[in-house]
Amino acid sequence: MNNKNEIEKLYNEILKKHKEKLEKYNVKMPKLYSKGNYTLNSLVLVFLYYKLGEIVSKQELTDYLRSMGFDINDVQQARHLAQQYGWYILSGTRGDYECKELGIKSGEYMLKTIEEPYPSYKNLKRTESLNCSSFDELKKMYNYRCATCGSKEGEPNFHYPASITRLQQGHKDPGLPLTIDNTIPQCDFCNRASRNYFVFDNKGRVEKIYDPHFVLRSDKEIQIIMMKLLIEANLEEAKKIIKDEGTGL
Ligand SMILES: [Zn+2]
Repeated sequence: MNNKNEIEKLYNEILKKHKEKLEKYNVKMPKLYSKGNYTLNSLVLVFLYYKLGEIVSKQELTDYLRSMGFDINDVQQARHLAQQYGWYILSGTRGDYECKELGIKSGEYMLKTIEEPYPSYKNLKRTESLNCSSFDELKKMYNYRCATCGSKEGEPNFHYPASITRLQQGHKDPGLPLTIDNTIPQCDFCNRASRNYFVFDNKGRVEKIYDPHFVLRSDKEIQIIMMKLLIEANLEEAKKIIKDEGTGL
């Protein structure tokens, strides 16, 4: 694995698969060389690909990079390659849903496949209009995965591996009609857990609270922190209400 020909051969295999399967999802391919030297990202990717489907520890990665002449202690590239580049690299430290099943512990990684992007990777802008005309088209934009947790339609659900994922139309903003523009695909678990409490962005992330009653389901400490935050944000208004209501707080 320290041999130039072997590294180039593996890199070219990845490059070919990337063109075929991953480019359309905006997964980013790192350059092999920069100014005549290997790049860290490409070497980490090549090494994980060499061990495709196997568990690789951070120590192994570090040792490999050192053997290639990099003076490095804390290898962060595997994490970046998943979250910022979109490669399907599971991280035990991040606690990806599939790690438990595959026995990947903290400090360990696995490149699961190079035929699909990282489940929750979506190179979509937060509020960009996706211009879809049907739910099927929209699901395709999301690679048939739940926008919130990444579970794939027809495959075991990440939350409940015993049940098969079915994607439903989740509201982005529960205050608006469920048009395609206002829809994200969600598995039944994410759709049920969040129904009507939150407003989501395109990436399936909570943008704000829609129903304030949600706060009452939280722990007392959280409720008090929320109250403090709201009072700070709206001090004059809050004083008025407290005075009018005569709560004596
Ligand atoms: Zn989900």
